[in-house]
Amino acid sequence: MKILLVEDDALIASGLEYALTQEGYAVMHCGDLLSARDAIRGESLSLAILDLGLPDGDGFSLFDALRERGIPFIVLTALDDEASAVRGLETGAEDYITKPFRLRELLARVKAVLRRRQGAATPVIEFSPGLCIHLRQAKVFRHNQELALTALEYRLLLVLVEHRGQVLSRSQLLDHIWDGAGNFVEDNTLTVYIRRLREKLGDDSQNPEIIKTVRGMGYRID
Ligand code: CA
Repeated sequence: MKILLVEDDALIASGLEYALTQEGYAVMHCGDLLSARDAIRGESLSLAILDLGLPDGDGFSLFDALRERGIPFIVLTALDDEASAVRGLETGAEDYITKPFRLRELLARVKAVLRRRQGAATPVIEFSPGLCIHLRQAKVFRHNQELALTALEYRLLLVLVEHRGQVLSRSQLLDHIWDGAGNFVEDNTLTVYIRRLREKLGDDSQNPEIIKTVRGMGYRID
């Protein structure tokens, strides 16, 4: 898998390039918009990591080209420029990360985006032995028996599965499962939803194997 890294800060770029290569990705580094445009046109890319402030212009101007080619991208932005990050998400970025960042965190996000992309292309995800999500039907099966999940339980499960291996905090989960229709889910209700979901999945609530509780942090599916 090849990742395009657009970053004009040589120090950040070389650190990232090294870390991504260690993780087994091929990295194509561009220091400006011009060379990045060529790379987007000519290379087969799985993901792009974009700095926004570049010597020959604004990283935003690459968004259209990336979207046209269906390449997911993560925006790197300065800590004091949250507005740009939000604009980035609104215009199609998969995620954003503020500088200075921890390499571990960036790598986790890269993996999450790539996994989500793979998930989108794969209609069935087996997330635990005998347990499958059929994405096109939005249904969950346990040993080929359909489970009766509510829409909210389904969303909760899906977000955990889409971020497999990553701990999601309670507030992250609440953000994801909030249904937009104003039925805000309260924090203490989340515990109840998790418990019900575990029961339906056949997970042992005393010693859960599928949806793990990470104490003081949140929940995770591996
Ligand atoms: Ca820059």
